[in-house]
Amino acid sequence: MSFLTHLECSKCGARHDHNEVQTVCRECGKPLFARYDLEAVGEAVSPGDLVGREASMWRYWELLPIMDTGNKVFLGEGWTPLTPAPRLGEAVGLPDLWIKDEGVIPTGTFKARGLAMAVSKAKELGIKRLALPSAGNAAGAMTAYGARAGMESYVFMPVDAPDVNKIECQAVGAKVVLVRGLITDCGRMVAKGKDEMDWFPLSTLKEPYRVEGKKTMGLEVAEQMGWELPDVIVYPTGGGTGIIGMWKVFDELEELGWIGSERPRMVSVQSSGCAPIPKAFKEGKEESEFWEGAETLAAGLRVPHALGDFLILRAVRESGGAAVAVSDEEIMDAVGLMAREEGLFACPEGAATLAGLKTLLDDGKIDRNERVVLFNTGSGLKYTNLFEVEAPVFDVGEKIDYKSL
Ligand SMILES: *Cc1c(COP(=O)(O)O)cnc(C)c1O
Ligand SMILES: [Zn+2]
Repeated sequence: MSFLTHLECSKCGARHDHNEVQTVCRECGKPLFARYDLEAVGEAVSPGDLVGREASMWRYWELLPIMDTGNKVFLGEGWTPLTPAPRLGEAVGLPDLWIKDEGVIPTGTFKARGLAMAVSKAKELGIKRLALPSAGNAAGAMTAYGARAGMESYVFMPVDAPDVNKIECQAVGAKVVLVRGLITDCGRMVAKGKDEMDWFPLSTLKEPYRVEGKKTMGLEVAEQMGWELPDVIVYPTGGGTGIIGMWKVFDELEELGWIGSERPRMVSVQSSGCAPIPKAFKEGKEESEFWEGAETLAAGLRVPHALGDFLILRAVRESGGAAVAVSDEEIMDAVGLMAREEGLFACPEGAATLAGLKTLLDDGKIDRNERVVLFNTGSGLKYTNLFEVEAPVFDVGEKIDYKSL
């Protein structure tokens, strides 16, 4: 049973009804947060009760916003491995290094968590048609869950978006529309079609439930580490749903008494080709400015302006963390290092956390005896377009000098 009570504006606190379809705050236009009767949750469950529950993000049912279990749209998302990375730790000089690997999730990235939740809630509210402006992984996730729920999906993508994302949407029967323009142009086109098509856009933080799906990453880290949070969490930030969700759920856990008041230092990593959060962090600003000419091959980080920027910056500052930018070259080097040391083929966004970690270790911002969790947010298999094959080729029967391979 869910203990959801209402929605509350993350900025001005205005209360909204969760039984109605909601987007952003009707007073100020900022993101809405789901609120729960945590006292009742505390009486109903304790951490020990979670043991033996299903190995998915849905094990935290009481803290999730779906009222009727029958509305859950499920493909197996969540409860991903959180594993020590000793070889990589030795390579960078940080023995207590861990990786939370979101690359094993349906559709290949952690976008599935947020969209499984948003699509489930849309189903609960009677929505039949979904829409999304997206340059990538969110589209793949939304359309997969949309198909699972028997809904219609429309995605608007820049024409130069990666083929894999167009194909995965097409494969599950979504209508894919390509736009000669930017993601912001796609967003405008989705908004324009709303009256005529009566579709519900699931854009980042413009509906309240994707962040509830993403917060389960924080729940899992807490539970998987025996309710002792690590010293540092390094997270690749685009729209910020993940870091915002984790920060939110740590407060919920403290109120439940399942963790204490200590928090990990939250580190937000972006690419130097699109780094509005590190810039605002450095300048001491509470909000970020639009980043002109955003460019990075870590597509999930190509977000020139996040609606939840003030929430990302708040989490980083309140936790005593940091926001750092790393170059695309450092990111690709990190993909190689992580793969060779741990056998984990990360997406560039995930590898950016390793590059960010190295920077912070060099700057003395992270101590070498601290416990650090890196988030690999997706599988490298969705990014084969960024790699070239380098292998010798032989004819059948040709003499091979094996030792020279
Ligand atoms: C979208 C995306 C991100 C950024 O996620 P947010 O939680 O919205 O900041 C990171 N990595 C990958 C692979 C993504 O697809
Ligand atoms: Zn508001």
